[in-house]
Amino acid sequence: MSAPVPLRHSLLVRLLAASIAIATCAIAATAWLTARGTTRALQRDQVAAAGQQTSVYADLVAYAAGHPSWDQAGPVLAELGARTGLEIRLTTPDGRLLGGSPRAVKAYVVVDPLHVDPGVVPAHHEYIDDRAVGPYRLTADEQRQERADSEKVQTCLNGKGHTVRATALPGGRIALSTDAPAAARDSCGLRDFATHVYRSEQAALVELGELMLPCLDQNDLQGKVTSAVTWRYFPNESGIDAERAAGCTATGRRIQLERYVAPPAQLFINAAPAGTAPVGGFRLSGPNIARTAGAALLVLTVTVLITALVGARLVRPLRALTAAARHPAGHQPGMPVRSRDEIGALTAALNEMSERRERAEAQRREMVSDIAHELRTPLSNIRTWLEAAEDGLAPPVTDAELTSLLLTEAMQLQHIVADLQDLADADAGTLRLDRRRVHVDELIRQAVTAHHGSAEAAGVTLRHRDTCGAAIDADPVRIAQVLTNLVTNAIRYTPAGGMVTVGARTENADVVLTVADTGRGIGEHDLPYVFDRFWRTDPSRNRDTGGSGLGLAIVRDLVAAHGGTIAVTSRTGRGSTFTVRLPTYGTDDHEPGSRKVKTSAIDGS
Ligand code: ADP
Repeated sequence: MSAPVPLRHSLLVRLLAASIAIATCAIAATAWLTARGTTRALQRDQVAAAGQQTSVYADLVAYAAGHPSWDQAGPVLAELGARTGLEIRLTTPDGRLLGGSPRAVKAYVVVDPLHVDPGVVPAHHEYIDDRAVGPYRLTADEQRQERADSEKVQTCLNGKGHTVRATALPGGRIALSTDAPAAARDSCGLRDFATHVYRSEQAALVELGELMLPCLDQNDLQGKVTSAVTWRYFPNESGIDAERAAGCTATGRRIQLERYVAPPAQLFINAAPAGTAPVGGFRLSGPNIARTAGAALLVLTVTVLITALVGARLVRPLRALTAAARHPAGHQPGMPVRSRDEIGALTAALNEMSERRERAEAQRREMVSDIAHELRTPLSNIRTWLEAAEDGLAPPVTDAELTSLLLTEAMQLQHIVADLQDLADADAGTLRLDRRRVHVDELIRQAVTAHHGSAEAAGVTLRHRDTCGAAIDADPVRIAQVLTNLVTNAIRYTPAGGMVTVGARTENADVVLTVADTGRGIGEHDLPYVFDRFWRTDPSRNRDTGGSGLGLAIVRDLVAAHGGTIAVTSRTGRGSTFTVRLPTYGTDDHEPGSRKVKTSAIDGS
């Protein structure tokens, strides 16, 4: 008995490994695609949220620049929260709530119009928001004056064919920009318009100058910058440190504007309400990783369970089949066919094969025993006579008679061995036929002549009926052997006074040879077995009543080797007729001649 299948070759283990690999790949691919999609979505959200945060900041800076406190900022914060969908909160630097949602916990930026964050909104001069105009705001009259003057300048420049663009500044001033040359600008009064200082501005600038003084002193810039016409400084001396001068202007301006703008406030914004994903990658939190790993494990477990279940169902009948196949021949249990799938078909095929094997094995055993039996009788006869001769105990037989008896038995042995050889050749497909054109009438005439003597001795009339004039493509020796066997049997099993008739006729493309006798016939139940090897109606194997039981088996194989069929009809006590059907010469689909042939189907009824 062979060893069980090693685990690494087991079908079940391979199925499990394959399904685990497939499930792992599927989980990994799904996780990767989901993470990528989610990351992209979150990044998009994040970019959108960043834009919204910037706009919240800009709006709050604008509010602070125009209001001296945050007292009225509540509605503005509410409106911003509703518009952007963000949670917004504003507190003083020391944490006192100024307005907005208390849920906003993420510190975003400090809102201070005097120190705007250039990273969030575009840079302003010295980081002071342009909209923080404070005392520089023109009065209504001054603004009217400004508009009238601006229109005058624009009309003049337009009249000279130049384009002018007017921009309203936060404090009420108007900035004009034009492509006109300096002369045209001067003649139209653009310079005067730009440098004109209104009264309210004048007061503020004087104040600014004073507020700048300590800083200018400190930096040794006193008297080196003009008293400003706007809040920007204009160096009147080259080579002064422009940055420090600008710093002093900004310092003074901040002190001046403090009273007019809202104090610095801390802005809190919950950056991305939909989720938080850092730009550049989607990172799962600890619990999320655990959840994902759990789901993956569950999928894998279910996959393994299903595969193990299906695999076990597949493997179980295969194992049973293997176990059954390992039983010695003749002891194999028939496997029940439980399904109509491939395994069911395999089981049925194996059952069939096992039955065939058992039949073949039984036939082999039977044949060996038959052969032993057939050889035993002549051999024991030879031995008995030789022993008797040796002991001088064989008075009834003369030396000549003994020799004749021994010769008869030796010929019988040779006959059996030759028959067995013929059958073996037929089985192996190595039966050699030297085929040629054989005239049927001549064939029959020879057979009848050859057996005339034995028929006469048995008191049986042997006759040749009909002539057909046809020819067959056959080995004359082998086909004569067929007729000899049939005629010998007919004479042997026909009592004295009976008749054996050999005939031939053509039927369609066939030649039909018949050997009919009026002998004892063959019983209906025995008829299907007459062509079996070693089969005889007389099971006692009495030599006087017949031969070895191989004659008809050889006849059947020889006829089949010629591409023909043989059949028998018989009635007990009335005689038998053996009918051999062979193709007429020239009608065979293969060229006549010498060849080896395989035995073909036989009609035994
Ligand atoms: P055997 O050498 O015994 O004749 P065969 O194979 O030629 O072997 O015949 C098998 C058996 O068939 C014979 O033993 C005989 O019983 C039966 N048989 C064959 N031919 C005839 C026949 N013409 N009439 C009656 N029985 C026959």
